[in-house]
Amino acid sequence: MSATLSQSDNPTTQPQELKKSPASDIPPLLGASLPELTVWVQQQGQPAYRGQQLHQWIYHQGVRELSEISVFPKQWRETLQDTPIGRSTLHYRSVAPDETVKYLLRLADGQIIETVGIPTDDRLTVCVSSQVGCPMACDFCATGKGGFIRNLARHEIIDQVLTVQEDFQRRVSHIVFMGMGEPLLNTENVVAAIKSLNEDVGIGQRLMTLSTVGIPGRIRKLAEYHLQVTLAVSLHASNQALREQMIPSAHKYSLEALLAECREYVQLTGRRLTFEYVLLAGVNDRPEHATELAQHLRGFQSHVNLIPYNPIREADYQRPTRQSVQAFADALKKRHVAVSVRYSRGLEADAACGQLRASK
Ligand code: SAH
Repeated sequence: MSATLSQSDNPTTQPQELKKSPASDIPPLLGASLPELTVWVQQQGQPAYRGQQLHQWIYHQGVRELSEISVFPKQWRETLQDTPIGRSTLHYRSVAPDETVKYLLRLADGQIIETVGIPTDDRLTVCVSSQVGCPMACDFCATGKGGFIRNLARHEIIDQVLTVQEDFQRRVSHIVFMGMGEPLLNTENVVAAIKSLNEDVGIGQRLMTLSTVGIPGRIRKLAEYHLQVTLAVSLHASNQALREQMIPSAHKYSLEALLAECREYVQLTGRRLTFEYVLLAGVNDRPEHATELAQHLRGFQSHVNLIPYNPIREADYQRPTRQSVQAFADALKKRHVAVSVRYSRGLEADAACGQLRASK
C-alpha cells in the first residue's frame, strides 16, 4: 500500500503527450482532448479537421479500433492498426431484476474490473471503478477482501462510461466513483478522467460524485483542482474506536483529523459535501450513535447518506430493519442534520454498493 500512497499527485495534471513513435509507445487515445488529437493527426501528415473526426468517432460513435473509422483514407487507416483507442472487452454482463446492469470488463493486460449501469426514468448513472481491487480492506466491503492489484489509467475509467452508454444506447447522465477502489489513491488519473468525461464525453461535473474513505492530505489536495463534482466521504462511524473496528486505515487517520480536513475542503471549495454511513445492525446503528454523529456534524455544510448494509459472503454483518434505519434517520433529522437513505440497487446481481468484485 505504501507504494500507492507515495504516487505523485500533481494538481496541474498535464495532458499525456501523444507521441509519433513506435506503436507500442503510443498511449491509448481515450482521454486526449480535441486540441491534442488535432496535433496528433497533423503529426501524421493529416489535415487538422481529421482531429475533429477522430474525436467524434472515439467519444461519440463507439469505435473500438482506429481502422473502423470509415471517413479516414484507407491508406492512412492501415498505418493506424497498432494505435490503441483504449477500449476494454466485455467479459461478463448480467441484468438484475431492477434493471441494474453489472459488467465485468477485461483490460488490455487481462485484469478484470466491475462497472455498474443504473437506469431510472430520468437518468442513467454509471458506477465506475478507479482501481483493480482496493488496498483499504474495509471489513464490510467485498472489493477490499480481494486485495489490491493496480490503479486504473484514465482511458480505463473513461471506457467504463462509454461501455455503459453504448450498451444502453442512451446518454449517461450521472457518474459515481463508487466502484472498485479508492479514488484518492489514484487522484491524478481520476481527475484526468473527470475532465475528459466532462469536456470530451459531455457529462456535467456537477452530476458526478467522488466517494472516498479519506486518505490523509488528499481531500485538501483535491480541493486544489477546483472541480465541480460532489465529494462523498465514507464516515461510517460516530467515534474513532468504532471506525477503527470497521476501517483499518482509520488507525492512521483520526476521525477528528478527517473531519477537520473535510471542513477545510468546504471552506476552500464553497461546496457542501456528503457523508456516507453504512448501517450495520447492532454495530453502528444505535440511537447513541446517531446522537454522537449529529454532534460531530453540527453546523457542518453537509448531508448524510445512510446506506443499509448490503450482505457480502466474506462478512457476517446484518442489514438493519427498515424501522431501525428510519429511526436512525429521524434521530439525525431531529438534530437538524440533512439525511437521506440509499437502498442500493442491483442487490440480486451482486452489483450493489460494497458487493463489487472481479468475479461473477
Ligand atoms: N473507496 C471509496 C468508494 C467505495 S464504494 C469509499 O470508500 O468511499 C462506495 C460506498 O459503498 C462507500 O461508502 C463504501 O463504504 C460503501 N460500501 C462498501 N461496502 C458496503 C456494503 N457491503 N454495503 C453497503 N455499502 C457498502
